[in-house]
Amino acid sequence: MTTPEHSLVGIHAAIAVGAHQRFGWAFVALAGIASNLPDWDGLPMLLDMVRFEQGHRVWGHNIFSIVLASLILARLQYRFHFIEAFTARLKNYLPKEFAMEPAGIAAPFIALFMVCVAVQTIHLPCDMVVSGGNGLSDWYIRPFWPISDVGYVYPLTPWGDIGPTLIMMCGALTMAKYPKRLPLQSTVTLVFLGCYVLIRGWARGML
Ligand SMILES: [Zn+2]
Repeated sequence: MTTPEHSLVGIHAAIAVGAHQRFGWAFVALAGIASNLPDWDGLPMLLDMVRFEQGHRVWGHNIFSIVLASLILARLQYRFHFIEAFTARLKNYLPKEFAMEPAGIAAPFIALFMVCVAVQTIHLPCDMVVSGGNGLSDWYIRPFWPISDVGYVYPLTPWGDIGPTLIMMCGALTMAKYPKRLPLQSTVTLVFLGCYVLIRGWARGML
């Protein structure tokens, strides 16, 4: 999946379980950010394509990296509230009419840590089913690397397919327009996404 898609999956997942009601929007924003953490292993692309091919979807896409990255990100948010700090700065550049709700209750560290682990874990099956296509090779995900090299991929939907983005953006826009029963709307959006991926896989003869 692409970066916006991972972000939207994390945001919808957090809202679907009612995290916004309990901990406020900063917690949901954290879920959206943390959803992308496994892709840190794509950064070597900036320096060296050979290293990128070796490391992408390996170094960051395993449970050990997920736990470590979750500890770091959750600690940063718990200690520094960087999401609220960044948004407060951003507000200086937005129109004066722009209103923002208070960030809500400060979430306990364990909740911050758990949401980071949860959305990063969801990242792995998302990358397994949205992979390859359009001349790209399938990227195997190795969830237990470096202990095990066993990889998994089920390329139901080609990487870069616009469908997942459209479904999740439609869900988000509908929620912005009709902000009622948000957990239900996010759940329905994620169910639509799952159905789309399955139907796409079936249409491509992968199922
Ligand atoms: Zn990834």
